[in-house]
Amino acid sequence: MERWQRQLSDSAVKVEDLPFIPDAQEYRDKLNKVSEIFPIRINSYFLDQIKEANDPLWRQVVPTLEELDDFLNEEETLKIDPLNEEEDMPVPELVHRYPDRVLLMLNNHCPIICRFCTRKRKIGHPGIVTRETLRQGIEYISRHPEIRDVIMSGGDPLLVPDKELERILGALREIPHLEIIRIGTRVPGTLPDRITPALCDMLKKYHPIYANLHFNHPAEITPEVETACNRLADAGIPLGSQTVLLKGVNDDVETMKELVHKLLKIRVKPYYLYQADMTVGTDHFRTTVEKGLEIIQGLQGHTSGMGVPYFVIDTPGGGGKVRLLPDTVLEHNEREIIVKNFEGKTFRYPQPSGKKPKQSLPDHSLVSPSDPLCEMA
Ligand code: SF4
Repeated sequence: MERWQRQLSDSAVKVEDLPFIPDAQEYRDKLNKVSEIFPIRINSYFLDQIKEANDPLWRQVVPTLEELDDFLNEEETLKIDPLNEEEDMPVPELVHRYPDRVLLMLNNHCPIICRFCTRKRKIGHPGIVTRETLRQGIEYISRHPEIRDVIMSGGDPLLVPDKELERILGALREIPHLEIIRIGTRVPGTLPDRITPALCDMLKKYHPIYANLHFNHPAEITPEVETACNRLADAGIPLGSQTVLLKGVNDDVETMKELVHKLLKIRVKPYYLYQADMTVGTDHFRTTVEKGLEIIQGLQGHTSGMGVPYFVIDTPGGGGKVRLLPDTVLEHNEREIIVKNFEGKTFRYPQPSGKKPKQSLPDHSLVSPSDPLCEMA
């Protein structure tokens, strides 16, 4: 058994395995009720990173009674599908929402079970993704020449054993119109020993492969995680990070700035910052939308554009992602556009008439390549 497999089999999966929870039996009984619906998994590597109750890692994986605040009955709760994915599944476990790309689920297992997960209805519940659903998914892609991009997701595709993963990648690469394969995974940040040299050697045979990783807090970036990301990057896999905005975990500018700086140092480009989805049992994690805009405003211009993720809402009901930006355009007309920069100063930028505006402008009003506004663009 490899080290990562041992870490996975040593996971906390029961209330009595959890770190830093109250001893009171009544509390534990209620947590048992929570975990019957939303299972627990914290692999032993991630458990070791948790330092105390309520720290940013603890909050992401240890259940609390707050999960019962917006709880329905068990049957209703497990039907909740905040992004309406089930409606966009032409075959089981394949989501075809956007014209040229699909999401293919490879399993229902994750290295940790995040308490805020959008797919709570599936994760940790066995028997949903099977060899047969995978076969149907791959066949669907091969029958649809408009699909040029597949995102392998789940669950976590990197928990699939190497041989099986290679079989799937090989089958996908036989589809001539499929250009890009993406892997959506939280493994590098939560079970980094899984990123073995053998796995990377196998993956690089199936390029172009991209990986969308998932990081929420700078404490997740340990030396082991750095090694894992370096291995993937050295295998030629471009790395991006998706972050979920979570109350009490990362909902302030300084934490987010530290996170994006650490990500860039390990060759991961901050890609999306998600407003938390409306999944049952997760209301206590949700922030206002203004909080996300405030964070983007606090990053823009204060760090390089490479470190500023897109802030998006994945619209409830399946409308797809919508990007949100702080208000930077104050006014626009045929002649000019008036914008506000990261310091709150206003600038006038002439429309392409070839002429400068007639009225005199403040010193900082014309944008030149050395202006911060140009850097932000
Ligand atoms: S790793 Fe992703 S899919 Fe798995 S439980 Fe966490 S958020 Fe959900």
